Amino acid sequence: MSYKIHHLNCATLCPMGSKLINGVGSYIERTKMICHCLLIETNSGLVLIDTGLGTQDILQPKRMGLFFNLMVRPKLDIEETALYQIQKLGFKKEDVKHIILTHLHVDHAGGISDFPHAKIHVYKKEYNQIVGNKSLKLGYVAAQFQHNPHWRVHNSTGEKWNGFNCVKTFEPEIQDILLVPLHGHSAGHTGVYIPSNNESVFHCGDAYFHHNTISKSYKDVPLGIKVFQKLVEYDTTARIRNQIRLTELFNKQKSNMRFICSHDLSEFEYCSCGKNPNNIV
Ligand SMILES: [Zn+2]
Ligand SMILES: [Zn+2]
Repeated sequence: MSYKIHHLNCATLCPMGSKLINGVGSYIERTKMICHCLLIETNSGLVLIDTGLGTQDILQPKRMGLFFNLMVRPKLDIEETALYQIQKLGFKKEDVKHIILTHLHVDHAGGISDFPHAKIHVYKKEYNQIVGNKSLKLGYVAAQFQHNPHWRVHNSTGEKWNGFNCVKTFEPEIQDILLVPLHGHSAGHTGVYIPSNNESVFHCGDAYFHHNTISKSYKDVPLGIKVFQKLVEYDTTARIRNQIRLTELFNKQKSNMRFICSHDLSEFEYCSCGKNPNNIV
């Protein structure tokens, strides 16, 4: 199968602490992180992996909450939304048939209401974080889910794949795309594997935040990233176990599979100009 994959940045985030996050600049200088989403052209329509922020987040930033707005300082640029970029590529919003979400945090699911026709795929443990809970945990925004999305909730049974368990497949038209449980950062966080003759990609969402986590070692990860992922995680043991598995998989499969996460600017810049992000030094 050969899919055409577009790499989209669907929100620029500007948290403080450039020196801690990138090792450059000062401690109070703001740095740049991105929301790396994928748009996949298939024979039966478009598939979006994560949405970043949506148009309603840009128009009503207060709905994302004071903590997110102050800490992460999103750029709030309507031209970065998935909807704007997809239309700029010449597609209509109705062309997006499936949205696969790594998880439901504010910076990943904000754009689902821009695509009311799409089926929204999420792992059950993650879906459970937003249903029946009167007060959502930090990181989730109820307003992003109030338009009655067409949920496709995937339970925790499935196949083994490259050392991971309970891997799920989707509808026949996209059945070779895989939903890979990578719990830890959030309760039901997953990665998404997209096989392709040209460029197989494993989108790891927020399972890691800096490429050194899987391509080098934990000690090569900037301190600010280590502190941040600890602050926002759901399950430390699961997060670390999955980072170890991803490191093993990277070492085994780096010649066949491109590894990306959601917020690493260098990975996005490599992908945007057709270079392999596994080769970042
Ligand atoms: Zn997250
Ligand atoms: Zn995130």
